[in-house]
Amino acid sequence: MAFTFEPTVVVVGSVNLDTTVHVAMLPVPGETVFAATNHQQLGGKGANQAVAAAEAGATVTIVCALGDDPAAEQALGWLRSRAVEVRPVRDQTRPTGQAWIIVDDKGENAIVVDRGANAALTADLAIAAVLDRTRGSDRTTTTLVAQGEVDPAVVHAVAAFAREHGLRFVLNLAPVIEVSEATLRTAAPLIVNEGEATALTRRHLGEDSRPADLARRWGIDIVITLGAEGAAIISPDGEIRRVPAPLVDVVVDTSGAGDAFAGTVAAALSRGLSLYEAAEHGVAAGARAVRRWGASGIGDEQGSNR
Ligand code: ADP
Repeated sequence: MAFTFEPTVVVVGSVNLDTTVHVAMLPVPGETVFAATNHQQLGGKGANQAVAAAEAGATVTIVCALGDDPAAEQALGWLRSRAVEVRPVRDQTRPTGQAWIIVDDKGENAIVVDRGANAALTADLAIAAVLDRTRGSDRTTTTLVAQGEVDPAVVHAVAAFAREHGLRFVLNLAPVIEVSEATLRTAAPLIVNEGEATALTRRHLGEDSRPADLARRWGIDIVITLGAEGAAIISPDGEIRRVPAPLVDVVVDTSGAGDAFAGTVAAALSRGLSLYEAAEHGVAAGARAVRRWGASGIGDEQGSNR
């Protein structure tokens, strides 16, 4: 049988329509301010990671939940424009997830997220789609990805599926949600930023512990992203390796940098690279992400400028 080497990433995650308005100063309660610009972009951690994995050369599918509305068509169009296959659960009752982001001249922001249809992604529906997508696929080149923007039950189910079928499972626990130790032990790797690493360590081991203690306890690699400092890889034996980030002179927007990192790492691992090499690709993608507007890099880049 001919074997095609096809690095594949299946992301189970959130999709949002992000609306970003730029204002001189964030409004205080009761105040109305005028926007200088208004941009619509693809967002949601799942979508951002899927796009990043596709940009990194993987064949990508996203399993997600969308409403039955124009926002869903917009998101589908954007994802497909980057060659991401979409396997959506359709929610007839709730709108596609949306985020409203207000950014002021100092770069301060205020964000409101309506999960909307994302809540319709149940463990059963997600696993049915993952099973269908991965049937017969090559275990060594297929990676499953989940994040903290889906229900813990969905994350557990994806981790259990990965264990059962011998697939790699990349877990980006952002935000930090309550997941079982069995799920954490399946992560290869677990990716978190500094704040999430601290929260997770406190939650599981108490104040005086460090992330290396978690890596030892769960027997997993933990990758901590460190913003402009790049990333650190902690091995199951507690060894820490640093991956420096490229220098970025002008940071435009840091939203989605962690997602670009995680999606790129998943794609690189599917291509058979080592975790260190994958993280090198991840920091390069993170650096590109902070140079552009928006969480995914896809949308009406000009927006309406007034
Ligand atoms: P998150 O967006 O989840 O908080 P980080 O801020 O750690 O995550 O950023 C993720 C990755 O993006 C970093 O590991 C790094 O590679 C890249 N990155 C973020 N901020 C910068 C920056 N100012 N300069 C260069 N790279 C950056």
